[in-house]
Amino acid sequence: MKRVYGFNEGGKELIDILGGKGGNLAEMKRIGLPIPEGIIVSTTACKEFFRDGKKITSELEKEILEKLEYLQEVTGKKFEGNNPLLVSVRSGAPISMPGMMDTILNLGLNDVTAEKMSKIFNDEIFVHELYTRFIQMFSEIVMGIEKELFFSLKEKLFAERKGEPKIDTYKLVIKKSKELYKEKTGLNFPESAKEQLFMAVNAIFNSWENERAILYRKINGIDDSMGTAVVIQEMVFGNRNDKSGTGVAFSRNPSNGENELFGEYLLKAQGEDIVAGIRTPEPIARLHEQLPEIYDEFARLAKVLENHNKDMQDIEFTIEDGKLYLLQTRNGKRSPYAAVKIAVDMVHEGILSKEEAIMKVDPNVLPQLLHGNFDPEAVKKATLLGKGLPGSAGVAIGRVMFASERVETRALAILVREETSPEDIKGISQAQGIVTVKGGATSHGAVVARGMGKCCVTGCGEIQINDIKREMYINGHTVKEGDFISISGYTGEIFLGKVKLTEPKFDDNLKEFVSWCKEIKRLGVRMNADTPADAFLGKGFGAEGIGLCRTEHMFFQKEKIWTIRSMIMSTNPIEREEALKKMLDLQREDFYNIFKVVDGQIVIIRLLDPPLHEFLPKEEKDKEKMASILNLPLIEIERRIRNLKDENPMLGHRGCRLAVTYPEIYNTQARGVIEAALQCKREGINVKPEIMIPLIIGVGELKFIKQNITAEINKVFEEQGMSIEYKIGTMMETPRACLLADDIAKEAEFFSFGTNDLTQTTMGLSRDDSVKFIDDYHTHGIFKLEPFASIDVRGVGKLVKLGATLGREANPNLEIGICGEHGGDPKSIDFFEKTGLDYVSCSPFRVLVAIVAAAQSHIRNK
Ligand code: ADP
Ligand code: MG
Ligand code: MG
Repeated sequence: MKRVYGFNEGGKELIDILGGKGGNLAEMKRIGLPIPEGIIVSTTACKEFFRDGKKITSELEKEILEKLEYLQEVTGKKFEGNNPLLVSVRSGAPISMPGMMDTILNLGLNDVTAEKMSKIFNDEIFVHELYTRFIQMFSEIVMGIEKELFFSLKEKLFAERKGEPKIDTYKLVIKKSKELYKEKTGLNFPESAKEQLFMAVNAIFNSWENERAILYRKINGIDDSMGTAVVIQEMVFGNRNDKSGTGVAFSRNPSNGENELFGEYLLKAQGEDIVAGIRTPEPIARLHEQLPEIYDEFARLAKVLENHNKDMQDIEFTIEDGKLYLLQTRNGKRSPYAAVKIAVDMVHEGILSKEEAIMKVDPNVLPQLLHGNFDPEAVKKATLLGKGLPGSAGVAIGRVMFASERVETRALAILVREETSPEDIKGISQAQGIVTVKGGATSHGAVVARGMGKCCVTGCGEIQINDIKREMYINGHTVKEGDFISISGYTGEIFLGKVKLTEPKFDDNLKEFVSWCKEIKRLGVRMNADTPADAFLGKGFGAEGIGLCRTEHMFFQKEKIWTIRSMIMSTNPIEREEALKKMLDLQREDFYNIFKVVDGQIVIIRLLDPPLHEFLPKEEKDKEKMASILNLPLIEIERRIRNLKDENPMLGHRGCRLAVTYPEIYNTQARGVIEAALQCKREGINVKPEIMIPLIIGVGELKFIKQNITAEINKVFEEQGMSIEYKIGTMMETPRACLLADDIAKEAEFFSFGTNDLTQTTMGLSRDDSVKFIDDYHTHGIFKLEPFASIDVRGVGKLVKLGATLGREANPNLEIGICGEHGGDPKSIDFFEKTGLDYVSCSPFRVLVAIVAAAQSHIRNK
């Protein structure tokens, strides 16, 4: 087993073992860039360290000393030698965790080496400044002594001894610092360079398990068992003289993607001076004036690195006495806007192929480009009221409104509700954004908000709403209805007042990028759209048809709700007939308008799905209105409402089960679809209607319903003397349907996996209730992913695969897609690509995400 490597023994292919910092340093050496020499203690050694009780073994010590020989040879310097070797001891995991772990500089100094170096550099003040810094860093990182104690000691001694020779004071500071170390630890400060080194490596390994590193890994989903490597590198001194300095720069602007150097530096400074914020750094452009040759050289090397790594680079550098050294490089983090611009530019510059460029952009961040975001400077100054869960990406600014009906009265409203119900749909559709006190990121409010591209913050338990006073209390603030707040669906933050926005950008770069993805992907990407406005939006984002049009959502608009309410509440066929006729007129118009928008593309229309009681009036005044419409006593209305209520609505009288009881509902809807399609045909609009039956559990239901609606459709053809092509297919959202998919496929022309309900029915979990316990599942590591956001590949995915396979075997022409929330989730899309589905369908605002994710998945799995 090999535990320690020289910079000459590998490169970035060994990042798992050498860490990102070490692997990239070795790579830079390999391509001849100016970096100080070094050696790397591998992650293998780190894993061993934790396995063997957090002790550095004698084998590891031996290997470090062997490699140290190499370092001493190539540098011509020696630990405690006549030309003393000083090193930095730096942490560096395989995945970059900026600033999460520790680094010690100037290691190797003691009273003897300090004297020797003072002579070599001919500057004893400089060397003793290094020495004080070393003691302070070492004491903090290895022994956990607060560095402030050392700072104030130094400050005090220099203040007291103003007239004295500086070097004497430095020496006193060093002596007193070592005494402080002894006082705090009971040990002498280690004078031996080797001892210092072993203690430092030990401390860096331990920093893998410090609190902030653990938290960072948790938030970013980084494997805890990976371990960190330790880079031991010859020091170069940015604080040596006026022709020295240190800085950090990106090879392109990480905020707007411009192809220009972007960064900061300080002359006469050591690395940590910039981050510590003791001195304000200069923008990198000024280096062009101060040290023009160094600037040009750095700009050239930044390009070399960019071309070599085929990505924008984030580079740390140090200048010592007019010579430039690179100390670190990694692929730079960037804004979504910059990510797209850089990917597109790099293709035009010949650095990346289109396929490589597509892989560079995280699809999850793309919706931000469509919403804009808060200006980071403005956020710093804003008053943070509180924080909920990020429910739907985006930002919103508006006046707090506590009731849906009052949202209509204000142009800019943010609906704040205890929780949302289907009756809030209208309020949600008119609000800028939504905040709920209860419910998680998969709650109804969040799902609907996401579907509408609305920003949403859910589960903000810090809020207390007082409906009577029309105000809310949050962390000591009182916010009245009508007051402005700003909410972020990216972070869950809620601010007081209006926070300044950045511009949304769907520009030429994004268009070009998306066009490449469309060229390359295999999976179709459709949208879930219930209204012409949704359809228009999604088509603009690149959707290829409608994979799910939910007819019930149409009824929540305006006065339509009363039509369906009358239909549901009617108890005799004449009443029902009357209501259905009205419903037909409304639906025909809705379908016609949607067909017109997507001209030529497929539209899959799902017939009525939810339990009927969801449509019923809940408020007293609505019940009274119902009573007057139907000309019935209120008590009778209340009785009928009670009768319609399911004990377990998710598994109750809904979907195709309604059509078994009341065939006329689906017949009327099918008639609406076909009449609208025929009208389009007459007007020269190209329509491809597909009718989808929800919640099927076997072929029997499908046969019965299909017979009914086909008969109705044939009647329409006869009445109008013309016909049109259409398809009838099923949602696949129960385990039984998946198990018997071969039977069903004989009667169905297409399948669409409704993975929201399929997840609920397969797991036996109600999505709305799961918010109460899903966090605990994550805390205890039972679930890695959220099953309603990212498909449970092992369980639910198995049914999808089985259903698709059985279906295709029985009916080779079967078209198969999915239309759950998972259709807009990149991880799930990867699974659907591998499973060979024909398309995914998702909300209009996720269409971009799905297009890019589908292209990436195709490239990855090719
Ligand atoms: P982080 O991972 O927190 O960025 P680093 O290991 O990169 O920590 O160290 C922080 C800073 O210390 C570097 O940016 C650099 O300026 C300085 N530094 C590290 N190693 C050396 C070295 N060998 N010579 C000079 N400066 C160094
Ligand atoms: Mg660094
Ligand atoms: Mg369903």
